[in-house]
Amino acid sequence: MNIISQRGRFCAVCGSAGGPFLDNLCEKCYKKENPLEMKKVDSLKVEICSTCGSLRILGAHTDTQNREEGLEEVIREVARRAILENIDLDSTFQYDFTDNIEESKIMNYGVKEFEINTRIVTKPYEEFSEFEEEFRTRLKMLRSICDDCSKYKSGYFEAILQVRGDNRKLTEKEEEEIEQQIENKMKQYEDARLAYILDFEVDQDGITAQVSTKFLAETLAREIKNFTSGKLTTAYEHKTTSKDGAEVYTNTYLVKLPEFAKGDIVEYERILWVVKNVSDALIKMESLETHEIKKIDRKRVESQASRRNNEIIEREYMLVSVEGQTVIIMAMDNYENIDDNLERVPRNKGVGENIKGFLIEEKNYYIE
Ligand SMILES: [Zn+2]
Ligand SMILES: [Zn+2]
Repeated sequence: MNIISQRGRFCAVCGSAGGPFLDNLCEKCYKKENPLEMKKVDSLKVEICSTCGSLRILGAHTDTQNREEGLEEVIREVARRAILENIDLDSTFQYDFTDNIEESKIMNYGVKEFEINTRIVTKPYEEFSEFEEEFRTRLKMLRSICDDCSKYKSGYFEAILQVRGDNRKLTEKEEEEIEQQIENKMKQYEDARLAYILDFEVDQDGITAQVSTKFLAETLAREIKNFTSGKLTTAYEHKTTSKDGAEVYTNTYLVKLPEFAKGDIVEYERILWVVKNVSDALIKMESLETHEIKKIDRKRVESQASRRNNEIIEREYMLVSVEGQTVIIMAMDNYENIDDNLERVPRNKGVGENIKGFLIEEKNYYIE
């Protein structure tokens, strides 16, 4: 500012001759007449869900569980952001905060309010030095139950997940594996909103679960389908009219596991096989007559083969001797010696080794 140009001027309000001037006012009077235009948030409601600990400030949710900072730091950060977002000042500004938020007092009913002090420093006019302004924001602490938790408590769910076998029950191994798979997937969604399973049942029919959202149910269903080479179908059903009058539709995601499962004993083309693996298009089976492994069209096997699991009597054997293509096998339950062909014995077996197998229609079969 050029000193000479200021000469002979004085403030229109206080008469001071000390420049600089703007609109014929000295700095002090100008600042008084033109306070900074900004929005000072004077209070903020901080709702804390007493069930999950999530925060709601100005209608926006903040999950707290998956954050590394403590609740104190999260409240501070979210409140500061809300204050800054509202300031709406034309000039750029610097800020700092002080507050009295204390972790140990947050969940204490006795303390219902904290305070944040905000100091703003800005320089909107070239001519004048910086403006400085402070204001106080009250944080009103409220305990509430967030929407997710109240939905969970009221038993809200949008979808049913079903896992069934095609014309059969699930095997114990399948039940265990699928349960494990669901558990693993749910761990990935631990911190997601509205992700829960209300009711998980394993019974004769298979697996049935009430799942919070359609998205989650479909994600789980697809995962199981891919893992088992099953088929996924979705059914939409009209459920009920909820308390607030809205119609709630429940989707059912049904995964049907393949008709034949790994380990099944099936009869196909008049011999017995053990199922090794089932993919979308093929079934891999091992012949119990020759122990040759074949991949066969799945649809073909499903339409022509029959399951024999329920008719077999499990039995243990020992390979006693091999001579050319002839073997002697001993049944371990009654020490009966059986003459058989070498190709009917699993290929990796040596003399003296035990073999697991079964008896069906008075004929012995050797699996492994
Ligand atoms: Zn003045
Ligand atoms: Zn909650």
